[in-house]
Amino acid sequence: MIIRFLGTHNQASQDKRLISLLIDYILVVDAGNIVADLSFDEQRRIRAILLSHGHYDHIRDIPAYAFNNTVRTTSVYATPYTLEFLSSHLADGLIYPKFTEKYGYVDRQVLQFCPLEHYISQDIEGYRVTAVPVNHPLQAVGFEITSPKGKKVFYTGDTGPGLAAAWQHVSPDYLIIEVTLPNRLSEQAKASSHLCPDTLKQELLEFRKTKGYLPPTCLVHMSPEYEKEIIKEAAAVSRELRIPIRAMAEGDKLSI
Ligand SMILES: [Zn+2]
Ligand SMILES: [Zn+2]
Repeated sequence: MIIRFLGTHNQASQDKRLISLLIDYILVVDAGNIVADLSFDEQRRIRAILLSHGHYDHIRDIPAYAFNNTVRTTSVYATPYTLEFLSSHLADGLIYPKFTEKYGYVDRQVLQFCPLEHYISQDIEGYRVTAVPVNHPLQAVGFEITSPKGKKVFYTGDTGPGLAAAWQHVSPDYLIIEVTLPNRLSEQAKASSHLCPDTLKQELLEFRKTKGYLPPTCLVHMSPEYEKEIIKEAAAVSRELRIPIRAMAEGDKLSI
């Protein structure tokens, strides 16, 4: 399984992109950046898109992607609550077409919405995918994704502290977890249901208690303004827990 990090931040700029992962060229996880850094040919290879929740930084590129790819149908997997946001706010038939229906000259469904249920694993393009609830608004979920060769990654999406229940349902070879703010803004992180390096450490300790091991860990969804601080503080957690913890950048690839 090769994971390409298309976007690893919660804010976008000239060199920072909103959160998106691309797995083996065909499976997208969160849609903050699935247009600007992929060629049209690369976009055409995408078969399915998973969305963790309805916050704008995770769904932004859905309409632009659909508009670029009207010659076939792409499946969008998310909880019913998240799918409803797309219909009511983005692909609503006003600011962009309702891509789940035929429109104008487009004689097919461009997007097919596929509802996911918590903890029920589904086959998606040959991958086993399980949506696991996490502590974040809009009924956010993380995804455990198992490759056809049996390699497992768990992507938390956005989450605040309190992953103990989630850990019982996953056993990843790699963890991709959000850390949005540095330790000095821990109160702000907690109030907005995000993690900082201190709370990351607590969640990893809880993971080890539950599962008896710790997976190598990748950090995403950093706030660009605080990234240097986050990386320094995460390095201390890495040394203390004796596992690799790597803050991912746009363009990075991970082979599992
Ligand atoms: Zn969010
Ligand atoms: Zn976010």
